[in-house]
Amino acid sequence: MRINRSIIAAPFLGLLATAYLLEGAPDEIKKIVDGVWFREGDLKKGHCNNIIIEFQDYLVVIDANFPSGAELVMAEAKKISKKPIKYVFDTHHHGDHAYANPLWTKMGATTIGHIGVVNEMKAREPERWLAAAKERKDVAALNLKTAEPPKITFSDKPYLITDGKRKLELHHLGWAHTKGDGFAWLPAEKILCTGDAVVNGPFNYTADGNIGNWPKVVEAAQKLKPMHVLPGHGPAGGPEILAGELAFLNDLRTVVGMAVKGGTKLDALVTMKGGKATATSVKLSNSVKNWVGDFLPDQVRDTYEELKQGKPRGDLKL
Ligand SMILES: [Zn+2]
Repeated sequence: MRINRSIIAAPFLGLLATAYLLEGAPDEIKKIVDGVWFREGDLKKGHCNNIIIEFQDYLVVIDANFPSGAELVMAEAKKISKKPIKYVFDTHHHGDHAYANPLWTKMGATTIGHIGVVNEMKAREPERWLAAAKERKDVAALNLKTAEPPKITFSDKPYLITDGKRKLELHHLGWAHTKGDGFAWLPAEKILCTGDAVVNGPFNYTADGNIGNWPKVVEAAQKLKPMHVLPGHGPAGGPEILAGELAFLNDLRTVVGMAVKGGTKLDALVTMKGGKATATSVKLSNSVKNWVGDFLPDQVRDTYEELKQGKPRGDLKL
């Protein structure tokens, strides 16, 4: 099943998710190190992954999720600790990472995001919110007219959350998946939470991306030398997730770039039906197959248009 990419930025529904779930562990919480838990979101419900980080007097949650996902995380956090959730970090503006912001605000937490999250919401809302409210009961139930931007923003300098013992840095490493991509980094524990700039599986959504700059962002993330990589979707792992994401992006750009240089027309690469990319003749190397799935026709089309029009895909209206 495909859904309308132009309205929903997190198309994690249907067969792709069903197939993937056979291997994944949705709705399970996993302790990464003392005081840091990773919760894998259920793709069938459109949920993103969440991370819960414990400080001396409070908890921090990475990503707001959709409202129904946020409720699960709130329940899980209560089981872990009686401490209040003080901050929730939106890794980017997409609904599955930020649409529960009003719920977190209501329960007393402060939402944080890169300034690009606010700007993306200004540019793309309320259209996506209204479309999501038509498709999702949990968004509709909030009875709001648009998305709630994060209350605290940061731009060039990383934002630091610390209680003197544990340190959590919020970084923007450039435009990859969206203009407001944020990474959460625990330097002492060497844990990196990547949002959707890095995913572990065939989940790369490229329509708001800067596909040309994306690899540079992943390389900047690699320079932090994380031991644990906690992606926006798919299971947790180590630095191999960064390497795989990077190899996938480079392969995609190389193969499509050669086709563009050779004068290949888009319709020879991608089959379009009713305005949607339904199939592609492009084949990527076997080594990146973990990242290749149903979105490949869209990813090929997005990469082709970005190269052809000489502008980041996220700035194009297709
Ligand atoms: Zn996303």
